[in-house]
Amino acid sequence: AKRDGRGCSRLYGDSLGRSAWRRRSVEVQLSRALEEREFELHYQAIVGGLTGALAGFEVLLRWSPPNGATMRPDEFIPIAEDMGIMPVLGGWILETACREASTWPRPLTVSVNVSPTQLREANFVEQVRAVLGATGLDAHRLELEITETAMIEDRARTLATLQRLREMGVLIALDDFGTGYSSLSFLQDFPLTRIKIDRSFVSALETSRKAAAIVRDVAGLARNLGLSVTAEGVETQAQLKRLVEEGCSEIQGYFIGRPEPREIMAARLGRAPRG
Ligand code: C2E
Ligand code: CA
Ligand code: CA
Ligand code: CA
Repeated sequence: AKRDGRGCSRLYGDSLGRSAWRRRSVEVQLSRALEEREFELHYQAIVGGLTGALAGFEVLLRWSPPNGATMRPDEFIPIAEDMGIMPVLGGWILETACREASTWPRPLTVSVNVSPTQLREANFVEQVRAVLGATGLDAHRLELEITETAMIEDRARTLATLQRLREMGVLIALDDFGTGYSSLSFLQDFPLTRIKIDRSFVSALETSRKAAAIVRDVAGLARNLGLSVTAEGVETQAQLKRLVEEGCSEIQGYFIGRPEPREIMAARLGRAPRG
C-alpha cells in the first residue's frame, strides 16, 4: 500500500472527510511530538513603557513536525487541548521556561501561557510549586497568563487556584483582555496583577476613536485597581507613544522584538548560548 500522504488521504477520505483526516493526522503527530523533542520555546521581550528597559519575556510555543510543515500555535494548541495533552505539554513548557528564567538577571520575569485544562488540573498549584522549587526561580518572577475562557469555565475552582498561586507570590495576567467574554467582574473577583490589552485594540488605535477610548479607559481602570497593563502587538513607534500616554506600563510587540529562539534571547541578555 502507498504510505505517502496522498495514499492515506485516499484510504481515509471516504469515512472521515478531508479536514477531519487532516486533524487526525495532526493528532497522531502531536501525540509523538513531545517525546520526539519537536517543541521549542521562543521568547518575546516585554519592556517598560516609559523607560524602554527590558522587563522580561513571554514564552511562546513553537512546533516543527518532521514533515517540514510548521504549524501555528493558534492551530495546534486547540487540538492538543481537545486531545487532553495540554497538561503534560504545559508542564514541560512551565518547567523549561522557569529553568531558563532562573539564569536571567534578577528582576526579569517570565510570562507563561496556561491553557484552561492545564489550569484545571487538580494538582496545578503543586506543579507550579514543585517547578519553582526545582529551578530555584523566585515565585514573583513567574507570571502566568490566563484567558477569560479559563475563568468562566469553572469559576469557583479557578478562583481558588489563582488565590493559592497569588499567596505563593506568583503573578497572574489576564491575557487578551477585551476579546471573548470580558467582564468587569473578573477584575473585581480574580486576584490579578496585570491586564494584557489585546492586539486588536492596539492595531485599531490610530484609525478608531472608539479603540483609543477603550484603551484609555482600560488602562485607567487597571491603574485604579493597582494592576499593571501590558499593550500587546505594538508594531509602530506611533502606537508605542500613544499607549504609553494612555497609561500602559509595559509594551510588547514586533516594534520591540519578535519572539526569538533561546539562543537569540540569550544573546540579547549578553550571555553565551548554552549547549
Ligand atoms: P497570545 O498569548 O496572545 O500570544 C501573542 C501572540 O501574538 C503570539 O502569537 C505572538 O507571536 C504574536 N505577536 C506578538 N507581537 C506581535 C505583533 O506585534 N504583531 C503581530 N501580528 N503578532 C504579534 P503565537 O506565538 O502564534 O501564539 C498564538 C497563541 O497561541 C497565543 O496567543 C496563545 O494563546 C497560544 N500559545 C502560544 N504559546 C503557548 C503556550 O506555551 N501555551 C499555551 N497554553 N498557549 C500558547
Ligand atoms: Ca499570552
Ligand atoms: Ca495575548
Ligand atoms: Ca491571543
